Amino acid sequence: MRPFQFSQAGTINAAIRVLQEHPSTRLLGGGTNLVDLMREGIEQPDRLVDIQKLPLDKIDMLPEGGVRIGATVRNTEIANHPLIRKNYALLAKALLSGASPQVRNMATAGGNLMQRTRCYYFMDPGFHSCNKRVPGSGCSALEGAHRIHAIFGGSEACIAVHPSDMCVALAALDAVVQVEGPRGHRSIPIHDFYRLPGNTPHIETELVADEIITSINLPKSPFGDRAEYLKVRDRRSFAFALVSCAAGIALEGSVIRDVRLVFGAVAPKPWRALRAERALIGKRMSVDAVSDAVDLEMQTAVPRAGNKYKVPLLKRTAMRALLAAGGVA
Ligand SMILES: Cc1cc2nc3c(=O)[nH]c(=O)nc-3n(C[C@H](O)[C@H](O)[C@H](O)COP(=O)(O)OP(=O)(O)OC[C@H]3O[C@@H](n4cnc5c(N)ncnc54)[C@H](O)[C@@H]3O)c2cc1C
Ligand code: SF4
Repeated sequence: MRPFQFSQAGTINAAIRVLQEHPSTRLLGGGTNLVDLMREGIEQPDRLVDIQKLPLDKIDMLPEGGVRIGATVRNTEIANHPLIRKNYALLAKALLSGASPQVRNMATAGGNLMQRTRCYYFMDPGFHSCNKRVPGSGCSALEGAHRIHAIFGGSEACIAVHPSDMCVALAALDAVVQVEGPRGHRSIPIHDFYRLPGNTPHIETELVADEIITSINLPKSPFGDRAEYLKVRDRRSFAFALVSCAAGIALEGSVIRDVRLVFGAVAPKPWRALRAERALIGKRMSVDAVSDAVDLEMQTAVPRAGNKYKVPLLKRTAMRALLAAGGVA
């Protein structure tokens, strides 16, 4: 590992100052992703600023009825918090499907949002061509192994997926990422937080290098218990998703008044299935309505030889999640 300077931030402003003055700085949350990447030489910051002592470790109710999750709250604490279990069970389920208890005890909300892809070529500097790791070097996955890669939102420069479970649930709950920087405060809806790769896959989010995530705000959920998170993976535990799906449905009688359908592990960001959502609103909840709506979304998938299995797998997963959320399963 390359030598680096280490400090602990006492205030948010102090952390921002270091980011501003030393562009090659990384913030340290739980370290479960960053430290691995530093050991492999994939991340080579000159400085680490530990933010774990900042006063960002609380989950509070918002005045208008939602919840604020501080950026340094551990994944385990989010999943077990009474407010989350009662009002956002979808988020608790997604979190508990990820990693292991030990990793979740360390991992923070902010770090989970910012975790990097698990693309084999990105994770192994032995491979030269990876536009995300070495801009302009090419993409080994396009013609190489891409079983775990994207079927939505990729580009000829990169087809990596965002690996988080938590973020898929956050997207179905319309989370808003709160950010502080030298230019002040910004609220970024999670749907706008991640960038598609285009020609610049190394720029993954709208967060600027001198900004810090302070919290994730969740509005009051219109879905209540009518929500489901499903994850399909190679092993039953301790494995990243091959496909996942978060669904929330608000019904008036049997008619769908509002719906969120978000896919995970199939795109560079949590993939909101807007075509399917639009097709479902106003329909009666039924297997046929759900199947037709998911088909509409799947028509836009761009699979490759090694990951075309994701199309039928995701369709079945999305249908199961929607039907369970709608009380049909
Ligand atoms: C063995 C293993 C299995 C895993 N399995 C899963 C899984 O199944 N599903 C899943 O979703 N995840 C999984 N993960 C990933 C895990 O969820 C992430 O490693 C974790 O959430 C990262 O959080 P952290 O606090 O440790 O982040 P760090 O490692 O500390 O940081 C990650 C990145 O976030 C940045 N960062 C941290 N906090 C902030 C902030 N407040 N503002 C701005 N930037 C910030 C850091 O600078 C760094 O770039 C797994 C990880 C491991 C090691
Ligand atoms: S898919 Fe993206 S992360 Fe993977 S090798 Fe290609 S450019 Fe790198």
